[in-house]
Amino acid sequence: MKKCKILYFLFISLSCLSQTGKLNGKLILKDPENYKKVSENTFIILKDGKRIDSVKVDDKLAFNFEKLSTDTLKIFVSPEGFPVNRYYIISLKENEIKNFEIPYSSVCPFSKNTGNICPVCKKNDKVLPIVYGFTMKIKYRDKNGNPINKYGKVISKEEDEKITSKSGGCVVSDCQPNWFCELDQIDF
Ligand SMILES: [Zn+2]
Repeated sequence: MKKCKILYFLFISLSCLSQTGKLNGKLILKDPENYKKVSENTFIILKDGKRIDSVKVDDKLAFNFEKLSTDTLKIFVSPEGFPVNRYYIISLKENEIKNFEIPYSSVCPFSKNTGNICPVCKKNDKVLPIVYGFTMKIKYRDKNGNPINKYGKVISKEEDEKITSKSGGCVVSDCQPNWFCELDQIDF
């Protein structure tokens, strides 16, 4: 009877924990001038239910995890890259091998000193400032109800309705973009 119980228990545990998934990943470094530092100091942390695992990236910035359970996995990079507070969620099926790329910047990609020239189109005519915190647009009217600018000059309806900034949300950090190019849809 005792033997039966043990066998039964073994069977249950084998069928519950089919740890057959594999994850092959690679960091895609956005600041290649720091390649050496990143390849020597960067770890990938994986949370898989109650298990926490970590591996160092190799000299090609690649990493892999084996014997993963068919579960939802959370992946973090340490040290944390920019923008901050980023993690990835991956679901693995049984026997699945997943290839996964993580874009990673070891330094803040945004600088306050770059000016408002878009790095893609090299122009600034479709560039808007990004405004953080609580924002609202104030519209001015003269006594006849005509739209005017803040200096009192009458402006066209189009100009009055023109979007002049992009909201960056209320979370303010040390590393955030200052400009938005409408043409290329990128923050910089
Ligand atoms: Zn652009």
